[in-house]
Amino acid sequence: MRPIQARISVGAMAHNLRVARSHAGTACVFAVVKANAYGHGLSRALRALAAADGFAVLTLEEAANLRLMGVEKPILLLEGIFGADEIATCAELDLWPVLHHAAHLDWLQQQPPARPLQVFLKFDSGMHRLGFPLADHAAVVARVRSLPGVAGITLMTHFAQADEAAGVDWQLQPFLREMAGHDLTWSSANSAALLRYPETLGAWVRPGIMLYGASPFAEVSAEQLGLRPAMTLQSEIISVQTLQPGEGVGYGQLFRAERAMRVGVVACGYADGYPRHALTSTPVLVNGCVSRTLGRVSMDMLCVDLSECANAGVGTPVVLWGEGLPVDAVAAAAGTSSYELLCALAARVPVEEVA
Ligand SMILES: *Cc1c(COP(=O)(O)O)cnc(C)c1O
Repeated sequence: MRPIQARISVGAMAHNLRVARSHAGTACVFAVVKANAYGHGLSRALRALAAADGFAVLTLEEAANLRLMGVEKPILLLEGIFGADEIATCAELDLWPVLHHAAHLDWLQQQPPARPLQVFLKFDSGMHRLGFPLADHAAVVARVRSLPGVAGITLMTHFAQADEAAGVDWQLQPFLREMAGHDLTWSSANSAALLRYPETLGAWVRPGIMLYGASPFAEVSAEQLGLRPAMTLQSEIISVQTLQPGEGVGYGQLFRAERAMRVGVVACGYADGYPRHALTSTPVLVNGCVSRTLGRVSMDMLCVDLSECANAGVGTPVVLWGEGLPVDAVAAAAGTSSYELLCALAARVPVEEVA
């Protein structure tokens, strides 16, 4: 068998949920499991994160899957509904849609559900992606309150820079000021806000990335946050080449040896989810020894520097990210985020679930 494998730890996810809860005070915790639980597998994440108070997904299909798997807790549809026809399913499966656009209110009015829905009413406090303008809050809340299809309202917003120096205040303060008069519960915190800004907790927090053991912050590691990596992508060296000075390796010959050196060819490429834009010097762990990639990542292979790994040869294990090598470090070197790397794990990579 091709030696690549993703080892996914349910214990790490359960641990990370406990870390999230330790920051959440009395707020309820939605475990965000969209995008196949950030690449970790929906049913696996569900078992690992069973202690959450609810689950947040994107699509009706994911939500229906969770119900099929026996979830009785609240399920939040983070992007709302995509047509009036989805309202009936929300009622049938007791799903909580995010209402973020006037069309949603029209649909609810035109096709009232068989039983009234709990809804999250999303306001745009500055991210300018989804949500009603804050300035319209009085009219929007009044309209939603008047809809017979709505049983309860939680106000919601989302932060654009909770992970950066700019922080949340510029969005949170106007949001709380405008929402204050409505006497409704609210929700605002993603992982970064939950970890850094207790004033964002509200009634429900919505951590995602931290549950999978990656840090939302560029300058604070997951380990410093007490998080454990949930996914370890590993493979093996399947060939060793010796380069003479001036010889190059891989497509485009982007890396050229300055002196004679050994190069390991690892069975992992961009078709497995490894970032093709990772350049020479992206960190890898060769049998526990920190090394670096060389040259261009191929579809099914990448090359690593064995100069400092004298004992490495065919069959030597290589960790691409995870235990011993934070996915955040690989993401930073590749000019992307841990979110993208985890979500992009390819379906062809066999998963081994570990405790
Ligand atoms: C994805 C998402 C989250 C989780 O964000 P993380 O940064 O992964 O913690 C929270 N809220 C909303 C609306 C989201 O779309």
